[in-house]
Amino acid sequence: MVKYVYDFSEGDKSMKDLLGGKGANLAEMTKLGLPVPPGFTITTQACRAYLKDSVVPESLETEVTTALRRVEDLMGRRLGDPQNPLLVSVRSGAKFSMPGMMETVLNIGLNDESVKGLAEKSGNERFAWDSYRRLIQMFGKTVLDIDGDLFADALEDLKKERGVTGDTELNADDLRGLVETFKKIVAKTKGMDFPQDPRTQMDMAIEAVFRSWNTDRARIYRRRERIPHDLGTAVNICTMVFGNMGEGSGTGVCFTRDPSSGHSGVYGDYLENAQGEDVVAGIRNTLALADLERIDEKSYNELRAIMRKLETHYRDMCDIEFTIEQGKLWMLQTRVGKRTAAAAFRIATQLVEEKLITRNEALDRVTGEQLTQLMFPQFDAEADKELVAKGMAASPGAAVGKIAFDNAQAEAAAAAGVKCILVRRETNPDDLPGMVAAEGVLTARGGKTSHAAVVARGMGKTCVCGAESLDINADAGTVKIGDRVLTADDVIAIDGQTGEIFIGDVPVVDSPVTTYLAHGLAAGLEAAGDNEGTRELVESVDRLLTHADKVRRLRVRANADTPEDSRRSIEFGAEGIGLCRTEHMFLGARRPLVERAILSEAGSQERRDAFDELEKLQKQDFLQMLEVMDGKSMTVRLIDPPLHEFMPALGDLEVKVAVDRVAGTVDPDDEKMLVAVRRFHEQNPMLGLRGVRLGIYLPGLFGLQMRALCEAAAELVSRGFDPRPEIMVPLVGSVRELQLIREEGESIIAQVSADRGVDLSKITIGAMIELPRAAMTAEDLAEEADFFSFGTNDLTQTVWGFSRDDVEGVFFADYIEAGIFGVSPFESIDVHGVGTVVSEGVRRARSTKPNIKLGVCGEHGGDPASIHFFHEVGIDYVSCSPFRVPVARLEAGRAAVGGGSTTA
Ligand code: PEP
Ligand code: MG
Repeated sequence: MVKYVYDFSEGDKSMKDLLGGKGANLAEMTKLGLPVPPGFTITTQACRAYLKDSVVPESLETEVTTALRRVEDLMGRRLGDPQNPLLVSVRSGAKFSMPGMMETVLNIGLNDESVKGLAEKSGNERFAWDSYRRLIQMFGKTVLDIDGDLFADALEDLKKERGVTGDTELNADDLRGLVETFKKIVAKTKGMDFPQDPRTQMDMAIEAVFRSWNTDRARIYRRRERIPHDLGTAVNICTMVFGNMGEGSGTGVCFTRDPSSGHSGVYGDYLENAQGEDVVAGIRNTLALADLERIDEKSYNELRAIMRKLETHYRDMCDIEFTIEQGKLWMLQTRVGKRTAAAAFRIATQLVEEKLITRNEALDRVTGEQLTQLMFPQFDAEADKELVAKGMAASPGAAVGKIAFDNAQAEAAAAAGVKCILVRRETNPDDLPGMVAAEGVLTARGGKTSHAAVVARGMGKTCVCGAESLDINADAGTVKIGDRVLTADDVIAIDGQTGEIFIGDVPVVDSPVTTYLAHGLAAGLEAAGDNEGTRELVESVDRLLTHADKVRRLRVRANADTPEDSRRSIEFGAEGIGLCRTEHMFLGARRPLVERAILSEAGSQERRDAFDELEKLQKQDFLQMLEVMDGKSMTVRLIDPPLHEFMPALGDLEVKVAVDRVAGTVDPDDEKMLVAVRRFHEQNPMLGLRGVRLGIYLPGLFGLQMRALCEAAAELVSRGFDPRPEIMVPLVGSVRELQLIREEGESIIAQVSADRGVDLSKITIGAMIELPRAAMTAEDLAEEADFFSFGTNDLTQTVWGFSRDDVEGVFFADYIEAGIFGVSPFESIDVHGVGTVVSEGVRRARSTKPNIKLGVCGEHGGDPASIHFFHEVGIDYVSCSPFRVPVARLEAGRAAVGGGSTTA
């Protein structure tokens, strides 16, 4: 029989798939002997079973009974006992952290009787009634789906009536009355009484947590974070401990190191006399954790010892939720903490320095995504800017945009292509769509661990939070800062590194990390100036990237087709060019020449002249590129796009000729052109006359390119350079196609060598693998090829039958929503389908030529997950856009040290 329930004492941190992150870590802490309140975890498998059948598996209910009895026996209390009640929390906890996305219900087990028992046992009547009203409020909102504002408004009304401002100023009688009001809200909206039976409360809460896996906001979050929709969440049932039992009680969140800068120290937020979600919700401003030393030294010291123990045990920065109940410390949660990209690099490097982890492990702690974030530009320190306020630097970056006060405004701005900053008093999970749409997030309330900060960090969005001088009135659409009143028409700029808020547009400059990547360590350090944190960051990136370069097997090249891009690629560490697309060399001012070549008679002087002219121009292009790439391989892909791309648009020309005909002024050349354009018009140009097909259809076209390349190489050799061109034939499907071009290429190489008196025999000729047929006959193609490069863009197109220019914008969002794939296969390699075709191609190619050089030059060459896959199937190099080169180097290193994961 399937086991659906695990006591905290039964699991460990390796069981995240089954117990979720929270459950697995609660079990681990229990195993370590830390003070975790007793409890148990219902597995993700139970959730999946529920979501499939829409009923709770029967055996789950019986397992819950057994587990609950064990907890009751351990505590010497019964769930909802009228005299001495056990209360429990019911919390979601998926494999990947989804902060605030799913449901939690606290204080399960309270009813009209047990509330009195709790009052008596705790000696605190106010606390008991406050806990009961919280239960009805949370249960009503989450489990019964009642509009949360009904409860919040009733609470506000009561406070007004009593003439008080804080919840804590309401007394026991007030709260007893509030419980009655809340119960009436339940009865009125749901036509049922708030369930008094504790086990019914618990069962309903468990089901609600299961259901919350599929709320809109959870789905949006998962899409954004690329978390599969079919994992399900675990449910943790944990004995309640109370941070709201008056003085001497409280609740907090802390990190074993600063999650923003990575420095070790006492870092966290603490709220006295508060329960559970109050800290994360950012409703009340918190104390710094260091203040706890003054308030409760014993608990503080115990907590510090546990923090150290957890960091040693997990060998990483941990974040922790804890509660102090009347002087007794309880651990409610820990996990390897979320962190900013900068902190990830600094922490990994520091842990190596402290000899807590190895350099290989450090490499596995950072990701290409994080490196990308660090390459983002920052505000120009020299620029004139109007600083109006300061908040907490919660998630780095430099964001500029118009103010958006809610989801609707942010989404409308994004849809109109207008950058915006979401400005909120505080954020809660309902604000997620606005956060996704905005460039950055600014809040007036809440600390670095508030929802806004945690979610923004997770998304890599710039965030400044807790800017208390902001007076935000979302209904009126205004935000007051001092005596300035801003509206949605105003532009603001927020700096996620410093917490600064500026009015107006602020120019941005390169990040010191990018300066380092482009110009080396000394330049990076100089760009960092005297900012110690930034200097450390630049050094950390350098150390980890240097290590990645040392351990990686995959070589990294760039896709570049201009001298500038080639130069930038080398700066970023590219070891060659893996794809030089030659088509742009046929556009712009050169297009009339191409038109002449196409329209002229085959074998005519006119065509020869046009080809000669193009060859001269191409030679210049190649000379410039090969000079920059001196001593490094440069793969030149012969022209690929469909012929009609070099001719006027059919519709435009038809209109022009029709109009001119009516006016009697039609140009015979236009008419001739129209005939040609019609002839070459294709329904599916991506599957038509392009690539090698064009080379064969238009004899001499590939020849002129190959000759231009050989002439350029010969000239450079005689000038003392070391050019290393490689000729690549696109869209090959049959070995005969390749053979024809190869014969032509070899004869050109031999001829130019003889004419110029230089040896060009090292110029290799290879093919792109972009069609399933090419991959499936790679053992034959390999007979005629010195190398292959997998064009995974076209290969994805042809394996899936997706027209790459059409499908993504039209229906991919629906496909992702329907779970057909988690991410576009054009972005990240579809391992199962396209990936299998690639690995089969690799196998077949090597069966003929064991040492044949194999690369990848589709967009996937710069995608972290895909790079890991290419490493595994034995590809020799990836080629990607210049800006992605450092990311590819890092990920290739991570793949080599066995970091299977692409998220830290
Ligand atoms: C490819 O198909 O993967 C490729 C690199 O070529 P292009 O994108 O130019 O078709
Ligand atoms: Mg292609």
